Amino acid sequence: MPRQAYVNGSYKPHREAAVHIEDRGYLFADGVYEVVPVHNGILVDEDLHLDRLDRSLSELQIEAPMSRPALKLVSRELMRRNGLNNGFLYMQVTRGVAPRDHKFPHDTKPALVMMTRQMKPHSEKVLSEGLKVITLPDQRWARCDIKSVSLLPNVLGKQAAAEAGAYEAWQVDGDGQVTEGTSTNAWIVTEGNRVITRNASNAILNGITRITLLNLIRTEGYELEERSFSVEEARAAREAFLTSSTSFVLPVTQIDGQPVGNGHPGILTTKLRQHYMDYMQSLRQSA
Ligand code: PMP
Repeated sequence: MPRQAYVNGSYKPHREAAVHIEDRGYLFADGVYEVVPVHNGILVDEDLHLDRLDRSLSELQIEAPMSRPALKLVSRELMRRNGLNNGFLYMQVTRGVAPRDHKFPHDTKPALVMMTRQMKPHSEKVLSEGLKVITLPDQRWARCDIKSVSLLPNVLGKQAAAEAGAYEAWQVDGDGQVTEGTSTNAWIVTEGNRVITRNASNAILNGITRITLLNLIRTEGYELEERSFSVEEARAAREAFLTSSTSFVLPVTQIDGQPVGNGHPGILTTKLRQHYMDYMQSLRQSA
């Protein structure tokens, strides 16, 4: 059966799924999205993702396209149709279709699309060698806490990383402090074995993987500080890693061409990845 997508009330073959040219998501990036990981057929931290979706929508004064139980039903139906066991569910809500005008339109129904994608497990090479990151100036707006589809600086940053032979770009604010990656949160481990990640604020997207990993770190009793760190501190760190719904926890072993620590994935990083994988494995499907 060909892959299907959900578009404004119907399931369509993926290659035919399309939105109107005056959808405000297309014209103005006037919309938000979520990426929910699917592990062994289970939507990981689904309610946390839907809470963040609600928050992004309300910050932009976009109405929810349907109730949470209905969203969950459509998510499961699309996963069923696509036989999705491991990968992710993508959902996007825009302010809807209206004649082009910057101001909010009246009486427009928010538009909802969903798609799924299968994902292979991360390669042995990535896990054993780690990833390279570069650093570059953070050029984004002042509301990075909203998961908006307006992602041009992130797109340009990821492209710059790829062209430099790196996986990710860590964005740096005007004070020389790392905010986050273009699609991942940034973490370091100090010489004193303290785990550091930037505190949640308007300067970063509060990743769901970040939130869950913080909980696991607290439960396991590791030393933790939620604060910003500079590029210099990151370069001098013992370990570094990144998190996201598709990366889970992945080691970073090079920053701007310099090895992090001994240049190999860190011991604590590897432990934290295992805690996160065990957490996903322990989940059971909720309603
Ligand atoms: N920061 C940014 C800018 C992102 O785009 C993402 C991924 N959506 C993340 C952090 C990680 O968030 P999550 O763990 O919810 O995938």
